[in-house]
Amino acid sequence: MALFQSTEDHICDDCGAVNVVSFTDYPDRDRYTVDCAGCGQVLLSGKGSRFYESSALKDHSKKGAPQGE
Ligand SMILES: [Zn+2]
Repeated sequence: MALFQSTEDHICDDCGAVNVVSFTDYPDRDRYTVDCAGCGQVLLSGKGSRFYESSALKDHSKKGAPQGE
């Protein structure tokens, strides 16, 4: 059985880093938790047939960038 695997970009609410998150679509629902690759806070968590596995920073220059305020 072929499982669909790909990546999605998710922006961390805590540090603003752009994470490239790998996921696999499974037929069964399962719990997942993925930490931000930049700050270690929880980036994604929940339960579903799309299982998020791991994260990596997409753009290192974004990490720690000034927020303007
Ligand atoms: Zn973060």
